[in-house]
Amino acid sequence: MFIRVHLWLNLFVLFVQFVAKKDCKANLCGLLVVTSFTNFPFNFKMVYMEYRYMGKTGLQLSVLSFGSWVSFHKQIDDSVADELMGIAYDNGVNFFDNAEVYALGESEKMMGRVLKKKNWDRSSYTVSSKAFWGWRGKENKPNQKGLSRKHLVEACHEALLRLQMDYLDLYFCHRPDKNVPVEEVVWTMHNLVQQGKILYWGTSEWSGVEIMEAHRVAQQYGLIGPSVEQPQYNLLERNKLENEFLMVFKTVGMGTTIWSPLASGLLSGKYNTGIPEGSRFAIEGFDWLKDRWMQESFLEKINKLSGLAKELGISVAQLSIAWCIKNPHVTTAILGASRKEQLLENLKALEAAEKLDVGVMKRIEDIVQTQPVLPEF
Ligand code: NDP
Repeated sequence: MFIRVHLWLNLFVLFVQFVAKKDCKANLCGLLVVTSFTNFPFNFKMVYMEYRYMGKTGLQLSVLSFGSWVSFHKQIDDSVADELMGIAYDNGVNFFDNAEVYALGESEKMMGRVLKKKNWDRSSYTVSSKAFWGWRGKENKPNQKGLSRKHLVEACHEALLRLQMDYLDLYFCHRPDKNVPVEEVVWTMHNLVQQGKILYWGTSEWSGVEIMEAHRVAQQYGLIGPSVEQPQYNLLERNKLENEFLMVFKTVGMGTTIWSPLASGLLSGKYNTGIPEGSRFAIEGFDWLKDRWMQESFLEKINKLSGLAKELGISVAQLSIAWCIKNPHVTTAILGASRKEQLLENLKALEAAEKLDVGVMKRIEDIVQTQPVLPEF
C-alpha cells in the first residue's frame, strides 16, 4: 500500500510536468521516471530528452549527445569517462561519438572499456567511429589513412576491436578524400552495411556537391548512400548548415550530428578573461585552435551574449547549445566536456531552448551577426 501510494504520487507529478512541457517543439519526447521506493514521498527523478529522426532514416538520436575529442585519454582517465558517460546516459543521451584519430586510438579504447563495464543494453545506445586520418599519426604509411576500400575496411575492423563491439551504429568518412573515386567509397560503405559491421554511414565536413555525388553514385548502382553529415555548427560558424546544405536537406535529406556547439568552449564565456589553466586552449599542441578562436571580435560578441543569457536566467553555454538545437536540421548536437559540472550544465540546454522565443532569437542574431547571406535566386 505504502509503495502504491508512492508510485501513484510519482506518476501524478510526472503527468503534471509532462502537460507543462507540452508547448515545447519536441517531435518526440522521451520521459523516463526513476522511482525509488526508499525515500518517501518525493524521491523521483524525471529525465527529459528529445529524440530526433536522423534525416530520412528510422534511427532516432537524442538531440544532445556526447563526444570524446580532446578529453578522452588526453584530459580525463577511465573513471571520469565512466562518470561522464553515466551522467549522459542517465539523462537520456543515446549517441556517443568517437573516431580512429582521437588520441590516436586511445579514445576508442577508453570508451570501449567504459561501455563494457557499464553493460548497458547494446540496443539502448548508438556509437560512431570515423576514418580518414588513421591512428598512427606521423607513422601512418600509405594505405593507413584516407578513404580507400583498404583503409575504410581495416579502420572499421580496428575500431570494432578498440570499442569491443560487434558493429558500429554510425561510420563516418571523417573528411573527403580527393584521391579516391567516390564510387569506391560508396561501394565500400554499402558493403560494410551489408556485412552488418555498420548500420548507417555518413560524411564529415564534405561539401554539398561531394555529398550529392555520393548520392548520385548510390542511386546509379542501387547502393545505400550516406544518411548523415557531421559538420561544425555553432553561433560563430554557420555557413554549411544554413546555406550550402539547404538543397541537400531538401532533396536527399541528410541528418546532422553537429560538432563544437561551443566553438571548443569559447562560447561558454570562460575565455573572456584569459585562458584558464587546464582548459583546451591551454593544452600544448592546440595553438592552432586557440589562434582560430581567441579573437577580440568573437570575445566582444560573447560578452554581449552573456548579458542576454543572464537576463534569461541561463548560462551563455546553455544559450549557445540551445540555439544550435533550435535549428530543425540539427539531429543532434555533440557535447564535449572535461568535467562533470560542464556536462550537467550543458545538458540543461534542452530546457533553456524553451526560453529562446522569436524575440530572443532576433536579439541573438543582432549580437552575433553571423547569419549567412543567401543568394537572391
Ligand atoms: P564544444 O565546442 O562543446 O567544446 C567542448 C569543450 O568546451 C569541453 O571539452 C570543455 O573543454 C569546454 N566546455 C564545455 N562545456 C563547458 C562549460 N559549460 N563551461 C566551460 N567550459 C566548457 O564541443 P567539442 O569541440 O568538444 O566537440 C564535440 C564533439 O564533436 C567531439 O567530442 C567530437 O566527438 C565531435 N567533433 C567532431 C569533429 C569532426 O571533424 N567530425 C571535430 C571536432 C569535434 P575544456 O574543459 O578542456 O576547456
